[in-house]
Amino acid sequence: MVENFQAAAYRCQNCGYISLAEQATCHFCGGPVELVSDVINTIVRRTLEAGNEVVVVQPNEHISGTLYTMGDIGALLRY
Ligand SMILES: [Zn+2]
Repeated sequence: MVENFQAAAYRCQNCGYISLAEQATCHFCGGPVELVSDVINTIVRRTLEAGNEVVVVQPNEHISGTLYTMGDIGALLRY
């Protein structure tokens, strides 16, 4: 993710699912959702708890151009 990146998102109060798309109820469990003004701390915490790595890049680094087109945050997935 790009340094100092912030984003608001909707978080399910029942299962914790996070979505950038506005929704009245959770797509997975139907639970109530709340608007979280800065969800990045939650995303970073969950990533580290899962044993994964978080890489923070400076806005002027070459890779940040690619991240910018993806919304300043991205993930490398194994599968
Ligand atoms: Zn849910």
